[in-house]
Amino acid sequence: MSSPEASLRQSSSCRILAVLNQKGGVGKTTTVANLSAVLAQSAKRTLVIDLDPQAHLTIHLGADAETSPSGSYSVLTGARSIQEALIQSRPNLWLLSSGIDLVGAETELVNEVGRETILRNALEPLRERFDYVFIDCPPSLGLLTLNALAAAAEVLIPIQPHFLALQGFGRLLQTIRLVNQRINPALRVKAILMCMYDSRASLSAEVKNDIERFLESARQNRTPWSGASVVPVQIRRNIKLAEAPSYGKTIFEYEPSCHGADDYRAVAQYLFGEISPQAASASTQQDKAAACEPTDAAETAPDRM
Ligand code: ADP
Ligand code: MG
Repeated sequence: MSSPEASLRQSSSCRILAVLNQKGGVGKTTTVANLSAVLAQSAKRTLVIDLDPQAHLTIHLGADAETSPSGSYSVLTGARSIQEALIQSRPNLWLLSSGIDLVGAETELVNEVGRETILRNALEPLRERFDYVFIDCPPSLGLLTLNALAAAAEVLIPIQPHFLALQGFGRLLQTIRLVNQRINPALRVKAILMCMYDSRASLSAEVKNDIERFLESARQNRTPWSGASVVPVQIRRNIKLAEAPSYGKTIFEYEPSCHGADDYRAVAQYLFGEISPQAASASTQQDKAAACEPTDAAETAPDRM
């Protein structure tokens, strides 16, 4: 394995995205694993940061979540530099791993001055070397999430469209607004991504309409979300997306021709517009597939709570 320093190409602009929703199980980790995989396959130098002590992203990418100290813990506590802590996960894809030790970081840092900006400062020397950085946030609005929001310029909010989808949404936005006002004036909500979407359930469409109406009404106000939109491509419920993590594989390694792979390619194309021609042509399959839904039992199941 080569050193990150040696094999990272210089790039002029680095997009740092926090993937955040304080609810668990909405699709954050799946989104980070698979969007970053599309970009890495498209020759974009991509870094993913696992900031969830549950280490689901680390495990999803087939890395060791038992290593102690974990990458994220080392960086937050100053035990190692980020350059030392990164591991190469795939071609063009680097990982700052997580582990259960990250649970302790919040309390260990409680008296640390500038504790919200440790990750931002750590990422500074890497900004020229990566095209994209994704931060997979824990399901909370504590210090780990504040570090993600202080470091990022964009927030991507995955939502699972069930009947409590918008509960807590206001608090999430207020947290983003506070970070924007106090520590990160560049922070913006980029988009809301509907995950585990069931196009036949009227509830899915209702939640989508509610969010679109809310965002529309926010356009006139100067808020970090006044430029946000709902991604017009949804991630459909797909059993392959649920299976891939247990093999330590992205969806493109596990089942590259399933709906889940098509949807994530299409979302990457919409959000970043830089995916490889091969990946882009596959994304058009969503339209064809949508025409002949439903396909399998998992995708016709009602939304789980
Ligand atoms: P979060 O990171 O927000 O907690 P995850 O990405 O881990 O959410 O997703 C929660 C669970 O749902 C995981 O078991 C994951 O494999 C599964 N999952 C995610 N997206 C889909 C999808 N589109 N269809 C089916 N299962 C999914
Ligand atoms: Mg997660």
